[in-house]
Amino acid sequence: MKYIVITGGVMSGLGKGITSASIGRILVDMGYRVVPIKIDPYINIDAGTMNPFQHGEVFVLKDGTEVDLDLGHYERFIDVELTGEHNITTGKIYRLVIQKERAGEYLGQTVQIIPHVTDEIKAWIRNVAKKNNADICLIEVGGTVGDIESMPFLEAIRQIHNEEKEEDFLLVHVTLVPIDLNGEQKTKPTQHSVKELRELGLHPDVIVGRCKERLKDSTKRKISLFCNVPVEAVISNEDVEDIYEVPLIFKREKLDLYISKKLRLSYKEENGRWVEFVNRLKSLREDVAIAIVGKYVDVRDAYLSIREALRHAGVENGCRVNCIWVDCEDLEKIGDVVFEVDGILVPGGFGKRGAEGKIRAIKYARENNIPFLGICFGFQLAIVEFARNVAGIKDANSSEIAETENPVIDLLPEQRGVKELGGTMRLGEEKIILKPGTVAHRLYRKEVIYERHRHRYEVNSSYISLLERQGLVFSGFSESNLAEIIELPSHKFFFATQFHPEFKSRPLSPSPAFLGFVKAALDYKKSKNKN
Ligand code: GLN
Repeated sequence: MKYIVITGGVMSGLGKGITSASIGRILVDMGYRVVPIKIDPYINIDAGTMNPFQHGEVFVLKDGTEVDLDLGHYERFIDVELTGEHNITTGKIYRLVIQKERAGEYLGQTVQIIPHVTDEIKAWIRNVAKKNNADICLIEVGGTVGDIESMPFLEAIRQIHNEEKEEDFLLVHVTLVPIDLNGEQKTKPTQHSVKELRELGLHPDVIVGRCKERLKDSTKRKISLFCNVPVEAVISNEDVEDIYEVPLIFKREKLDLYISKKLRLSYKEENGRWVEFVNRLKSLREDVAIAIVGKYVDVRDAYLSIREALRHAGVENGCRVNCIWVDCEDLEKIGDVVFEVDGILVPGGFGKRGAEGKIRAIKYARENNIPFLGICFGFQLAIVEFARNVAGIKDANSSEIAETENPVIDLLPEQRGVKELGGTMRLGEEKIILKPGTVAHRLYRKEVIYERHRHRYEVNSSYISLLERQGLVFSGFSESNLAEIIELPSHKFFFATQFHPEFKSRPLSPSPAFLGFVKAALDYKKSKNKN
């Protein structure tokens, strides 16, 4: 087993997740099996209870673990399916140690960070690496070197380094190279953060310099000299237009070659599919405008996977997708609205705030025959809207929003007693059976699909036949007979899902639901232009 560890220096928000995912990609392109692990040093057990305003979206894995959005980058770049074991948090490790202590497994010892916590971290990493039968285990240590929270993890990494053979371990340190007022690339922050790493007994093999512009040779030489790494191990990672270009930058910098050499892997030529994708992405000629109506529209990463899924579907359809962010709370306040867009998307969400604004956007899409995609809360509200305005159930609502005589969306009995918030929703992948002859079936080209969930409320099945009589088609159900998809045959494209298709969309294999939506938006745009 080879280990590549990625640490970050100077400051957070450097794009360490994308750097790690891109390193994963160049290794996969050489034909290696890569297993990524993300370490999040916070005390939360998982990201499920975290506010999108602070951390961006919560990504959901196949097994239902709620994780940091970086794991979404891993899945999309490396093209793997991960589970909860690929994400280590302080909370998870301490929970294990405390459980063992209570069970008396430490046989009277004083339980300490070294060795008990660090042993648990090492065992976790090695188990996952082995179980996944990988060639290379990629470990990203979240946070910045020097943070108190990450100390036990960096100590565990130091021990792994010590215990493994020299050719089986590589440390990549990602730092910031700022540019001063005279336009000079500054290496001092990098020098300082490498020094900090050294104090912890770690030494970088590769330094990735995040910079606004490409690192100059003189900057590389300086970093090489002061930080004690060969010049060819100083890698420029300058800002690019698109995150999917980063693996290509690393290839240009010959990082794949250097890693192969250091880890004694045989260097193999890439297969080229990624390059082809990036080339297509950069030469798109058409545009479509999609309104995304949500509550967290000011937070760039709150709807990250949706944005990416739209882009993947765009490339496949030959168009760039421009997202128009619409705050659903604003929609509640203003008078007449006109959406001058080619499609309307209502994403997932929670709670009462802004819900009526989302319903208004859905009504607009339905009445004006504008392509519509509803996801999770967007699906539930599309049913509320239809029940109210087509089926004439004026007070129809979701019981999450208001108490009503007609809760078309309601809690299942098993959710009623749930008090704890962490990990108690309906989470993760489930089997869904599609009705032949429907839009869902046409898009997915299968009768059985698997998609990921993250929600508490469900369609109230006692309303289904009534809504169906009014023309709404329920085209997919889970094995336990929960409604999963609705569509409107009388409409250009009106499609909504209880599950989150965005979590399974990949650059090289876009989500069928998004493909259908973007295609409908493009067709709609063309038909408008003709008239
Ligand atoms: N708030 C809704 C529920 O809990 C939808 C959740 C979501 O959109 N992710 O069921």
